[in-house]
Amino acid sequence: MSEIKTRFAPSPTGDLHIGGLRTALYSYALAKSEGGKFVLRIEDTDKKREKEGSKDQIKSLLKLFGLDWDEYHVQSERVKTGIYREAARQLVKRGLAFYCQCPPKDPQKKGAVLEMRDPCRDKGLRSGAIKLKVPDSGNVSFFDFVLKKKISWNLKSVADTTLLKSDGFPTYHLAVVVDDHEMGITHVLRGHDWLPSTPVHLLVYKGLSYNLPEIGHLTDILDPNGGKLSKRKGSVSCQALLDDGYLPEALLNFVMLLGWAPKDNREFFSLDEFVKNFKKGDLQVSNPIFNREKLNWMNGEYIRRTDNLRLSRMIFDLFEGKYSLREIEVILPLVKERIKTLRDFESLSLFFFERPEIDFSLFGKNWQDHIKSSFVALKELKNWDLESINKVLLKSIEENHFKTGDFFMDLRIAITGKRVTPPINESLVLLGKDEVINRLDRLI
Ligand code: GLU
Repeated sequence: MSEIKTRFAPSPTGDLHIGGLRTALYSYALAKSEGGKFVLRIEDTDKKREKEGSKDQIKSLLKLFGLDWDEYHVQSERVKTGIYREAARQLVKRGLAFYCQCPPKDPQKKGAVLEMRDPCRDKGLRSGAIKLKVPDSGNVSFFDFVLKKKISWNLKSVADTTLLKSDGFPTYHLAVVVDDHEMGITHVLRGHDWLPSTPVHLLVYKGLSYNLPEIGHLTDILDPNGGKLSKRKGSVSCQALLDDGYLPEALLNFVMLLGWAPKDNREFFSLDEFVKNFKKGDLQVSNPIFNREKLNWMNGEYIRRTDNLRLSRMIFDLFEGKYSLREIEVILPLVKERIKTLRDFESLSLFFFERPEIDFSLFGKNWQDHIKSSFVALKELKNWDLESINKVLLKSIEENHFKTGDFFMDLRIAITGKRVTPPINESLVLLGKDEVINRLDRLI
């Protein structure tokens, strides 16, 4: 069999989202698992929908996730070579497409009815936009290698579709077919959204006598609350998730499992391991669910496995220098076990930087005794280290017959303002004696 070649073909119309990352990842793995090539192709022929910065964001994020490409193409640059126009003209010559001079219709417009057959199809015009002349009867079909079934359409339900606009720019339908053919793509993998376009592509492939690549559509990622995952229902943009404090390798690992599962249900994979284990037959037909709790759990696991120096740098960058690297390095070991995202660093360690407001309703019923005794015990302490602090507090608990858990909870609240914090005695060491004594004193 010839070498496998896949592509990721995003349109630069906005943020790269989780679904796009998944398509890129699976396409990459499909090629690399068989020693093949992975192509990045920017599909930017619809200049009206293009968003500035989107192309660069796609490239830098793919690099960040390690999805490096072997070839890079930009469709708007390829327009100049005339290949799309040439292909469209071929189709006209073969009687499979026609010129049309109607003003372009806006399919988004309310009340717009999609006419299956275009009034210009039999006029024999010699200039204008070029549209596909869909045969009046028959079917088109292909075997979807992800969905693992044959899918067919009755041509009566397929519309005469624009392939080349009057300005000479191809539409997606023409450009995608010409490019997949020209670039020798063997496997086309894309989101389910694109399935309705496939019959048009199939007719173009046939019309141009191109060999059909294998085509597969990945099932939609679902929102845990129902429906498709969408921007509206929370951040699904990769950049937004990174800004929320997810590690790229954790995010990528999470995405690996949104539609693929190895036979042994293993969950942790580096990109290399994923590629080694990837089999296109293991792509799932059922819809994956974007489970934020699982992502949080996985991210926490990755945080625990990452060395402190790298984590500190990432936290430093995330907060754009709000905390110094030194501060982060000192506090990180105390919070590392508990944070799920890098953003949690701030909420868990804020009390190191600011005296917290105290919500008195959090305290237990003996809080005043607990705080007074801590104050007395700690005030006299000469050596401000963990061992001495432990010792003197436990002694006070014993002498006063306090309950250990209640005592430390009240002390924790008095110092941090919260019930869930890093280990309290270690935090006292880090805060320093003066600050601890002050925080207790103000409550007495
Ligand atoms: N340009 C399309 C997109 O933005 C690509 C669809 C395909 O892969 O064929 O997703």
